[in-house]
Amino acid sequence: MNGYTSELKELIKKVEASRHARVERARKNQHFPALTMEQRKEWLNKYHPDYKSDGRRAVKVGPNKGEVFPEEVVNLLESRSRITPKNIDLTKIDYETDVLVIGAGGAGTSAALIAQENGRKVIVATKLRHGDSNTVMAEGGIQGADQEGDSPYYHFIDAMGGGHFSNQPDLVAALTNDAPVALHWLESLGLMFDKYPDGRMLARHGGGTCRRRMHSAGDMTGAEIMRVVRDEARNRSEDICGMRRETAQKI
Ligand SMILES: Cc1cc2nc3c(=O)[nH]c(=O)nc-3n(C[C@H](O)[C@H](O)[C@H](O)COP(=O)(O)OP(=O)(O)OC[C@H]3O[C@@H](n4cnc5c(N)ncnc54)[C@H](O)[C@@H]3O)c2cc1C
Repeated sequence: MNGYTSELKELIKKVEASRHARVERARKNQHFPALTMEQRKEWLNKYHPDYKSDGRRAVKVGPNKGEVFPEEVVNLLESRSRITPKNIDLTKIDYETDVLVIGAGGAGTSAALIAQENGRKVIVATKLRHGDSNTVMAEGGIQGADQEGDSPYYHFIDAMGGGHFSNQPDLVAALTNDAPVALHWLESLGLMFDKYPDGRMLARHGGGTCRRRMHSAGDMTGAEIMRVVRDEARNRSEDICGMRRETAQKI
């Protein structure tokens, strides 16, 4: 329990004290009633950092001026740049590239590979070790409408509904239309997707989906995605260069 705040320690005690009763309820198939939409709203507004009104303020300067974010993000946006322009000599070029990718998780590394496949020289700058990312932590799976009876159209509708219709439709359309191609591309790089014995892709339901389109690699789908894209980037290291952290920070 070392390392936990006193508030967290109190919460852990509550969870431990109620564990037996909760397990008993589950055993008797007595489930807790779902919250109503009003109750959900009330709880989100009270506790969720994206909904709470306190701890947020408007940005005073820069392109985001007037937009309201959590205090910590605003402090960062309003802080002085770590770059000192007079220390940069633009007549002396250390690195030259067609594409600079900043952040090498699943998205960044894939973008680097696709740019390279299209004949571009690429530099990837990432702040931790290559692959230290959210991608590597994803367990459940990756969705794509590649099954009979499914279509990117249904995937689009599910994703828009899942986002309470607040997502950007053009981005969701790009994601859902490209998803089957992305699955195919990952498999061509060696990703070991879960399959039926006859070789067809195994697809499960994800939350709120009207078709089975969740593709997995055991319970370590993200780690498996990162394994193949990182290996591939390293195999193409003549065209995709990694920039060391210190160099990226200096810039
Ligand atoms: C525990 C967990 C489980 C999840 N499960 C699923 C799932 O089952 N299915 C699903 O679809 N999604 C899941 N997600 C969400 C999914 O993992 C992410 O949406 C997705 O991996 C994001 O990919 P990305 O490449 O955009 O970001 P990341 O994988 O986070 O990569 C961003 C990279 O940028 C680097 N970086 C950040 N800032 C800088 C900087 N200033 N300079 C240089 N580099 C920087 C980071 O170090 C990192 O390597 C899960 C997420 C988590 C955390």
